[in-house]
Amino acid sequence: MSININDDYKSYETEDLIVYWNADICEHSGICTMGLPKVFNVREKPWINVFGENTKKIIEIIEKCPSGALKYKLKKGSAIMIFKIVFENENNRSAAFYKNEEIGECTFSRSNEFWIIDHTFVIEKYNGEGIGKKLVKNVVDKAREENVKIIPLCPFALKEFQNVKEYKDILKQ
Ligand code: SF4
Repeated sequence: MSININDDYKSYETEDLIVYWNADICEHSGICTMGLPKVFNVREKPWINVFGENTKKIIEIIEKCPSGALKYKLKKGSAIMIFKIVFENENNRSAAFYKNEEIGECTFSRSNEFWIIDHTFVIEKYNGEGIGKKLVKNVVDKAREENVKIIPLCPFALKEFQNVKEYKDILKQ
């Protein structure tokens, strides 16, 4: 994440993370306070408690801040790996990236009424990070937005659909 921090930002630090916040541009959307109330709580002082959740969850919420009031930087030497999951409509897939390297994808073919997930893949050295699950979820979220059902043909996606009860509504029967 490239960040542009000026003096208007206050900072809050753990041993591997710095969270920045700029009161002047906060839109008070409540995304942070509702998403992670143990970290972002306006009734506390300071209102940001960077020790209230793990680093990855804090970063996930910061990336949803619509105004740019919240930003973050991982400290040098941090072992935390941040993966980007991107939906590529034109390529019928969600794709995973670590830094600038493509490390996985979940592909599907489409008809008007349903999408068929036919392949999910993550480079072996990134196995165990939950990336495959996030790739499938990304496709599911987009299918919901477009009001289409899914046929999980690929074995990994099929297992996800068997394990995640929240996917039942979107499964093509
Ligand atoms: S998510 Fe960003 S804009 Fe919304 S309340 Fe939190 S800091 Fe402000």
